[in-house]
Amino acid sequence: MSEPQAPALDAFRREVRDWLAANCPAEPDFLLPESFMEVGTDAQFEFLRAWQRKVYEAGYLGMAWPAEYGGGGRPQVFQDIVNEEMAHLKVPFVPNTIGLNWAGPLILAIGTEAEKQRYIRGILSAEDIWCQGFSEPDQGSDLANCQTRAVRDGDHYVINGSKIWTSLGSYAKYMILLARTDPAKPRYDGLSYFLVPMHTPGIETRPIRKLTGEYGFTQTFFRDARIPADCLMGREGEGWKIAMLTLTFERSVTGGQAGGLMRMHQSVDDIVALARESRRDGRPALEDPFVRDQLVRFIIEDQGDRLCASRGRIEALCNERPQALGLSAKLRRSEHARRLYQFALSLQGANAVRYVGDASAVDGGKWQRAYLNAFSSTIGGGTSQIQANIIGERVLGLPKD
Ligand SMILES: Cc1cc2nc3c(=O)[nH]c(=O)nc-3n(C[C@H](O)[C@H](O)[C@H](O)COP(=O)(O)OP(=O)(O)OC[C@H]3O[C@@H](n4cnc5c(N)ncnc54)[C@H](O)[C@@H]3O)c2cc1C
Repeated sequence: MSEPQAPALDAFRREVRDWLAANCPAEPDFLLPESFMEVGTDAQFEFLRAWQRKVYEAGYLGMAWPAEYGGGGRPQVFQDIVNEEMAHLKVPFVPNTIGLNWAGPLILAIGTEAEKQRYIRGILSAEDIWCQGFSEPDQGSDLANCQTRAVRDGDHYVINGSKIWTSLGSYAKYMILLARTDPAKPRYDGLSYFLVPMHTPGIETRPIRKLTGEYGFTQTFFRDARIPADCLMGREGEGWKIAMLTLTFERSVTGGQAGGLMRMHQSVDDIVALARESRRDGRPALEDPFVRDQLVRFIIEDQGDRLCASRGRIEALCNERPQALGLSAKLRRSEHARRLYQFALSLQGANAVRYVGDASAVDGGKWQRAYLNAFSSTIGGGTSQIQANIIGERVLGLPKD
């Protein structure tokens, strides 16, 4: 594939900008969730699903995925431009995050031809929403201790057990599931990986309410749920290896995601605007040296993160510690967002206690909601402590204990 030239990319950027301006849906008369982890009502879900479908049909999603499975077959740079313009214009996010960003890349990387033909197009069009069944009520960080059982019975596997914190569990058509097929084997070797149809009899989801009052995830119960044996991905016993590969997509260690925004986008510029509006000792908070100092730190981190993303794509610049940028991305970004929103609240003084629904809340209480939801990304996909352990061991070479 020939390298696209700068004028062609500039023209493409203009085309995308025009399309987004003309097609971005008007704000609905209900509150949109901030990310796929808070999609809690049918109205929210249908609004976001329709948006994803529209983006895909216009050719702006999965642009670098192979054309034979429904992707665009174009160089990644085109999708990068779309993502940047989406963030810039603050359009809604695309809701099939687990399908687009971890199940889809996984299937493209190691799936069979039949799996690629069967699943990829539906992921892109939002026809098939995906969820992830890794965590269990007693096993989150210690994923290898997974206890959900899958027992082979002729042409089927029979699943029993329970998964928890299943984001999009209420709306998903498929689940990527980690389950134990051989309890006699050492714990990593007894696990297998399945692509499970959620409408299978014996699978039930129960919504869980979050700290913000929103619903977005479920507890998922399996009671003698019989799934066809060809739902097994790879071979029996390869579940741990495939789960680890899934996490590299989820934590952005590896590229290959379909693109589109994963969440509502608040930038450092929005906080600067908030600081301009907020008052401190009767003057705009932006004039306070402490506030300015903090803002500059956030701007530097933000810019650093952007440059890291570009640098990560150039192998020669990462040779010294090849995994350092990828493995630290989730920790850096999620903790940055949490501190940023905490700072946004501190700018509001006593008003920080006013929440969404309170007519006097600053910016409708969006910073309060963003702050509470910011903890999601510091826990989901592996907590910050676990990410720090991984960096310590794999990048810095520290001893395991
Ligand atoms: C918003 C949200 C969405 C989620 N969506 C999904 C989903 O779709 N599918 C799914 O399968 N899961 C999902 N999760 C679950 C998530 O992956 C787990 O919550 C996470 O892995 C932590 O597991 P746990 O909750 O059991 O906490 P625990 O593992 O019990 O951890 C409790 C505390 O102990 C710390 N800790 C544990 N082990 C260590 C260690 N070895 N070293 C240092 N500290 C340690 C942790 O950092 C944490 O602070 C979601 C979670 C959230 C918050």
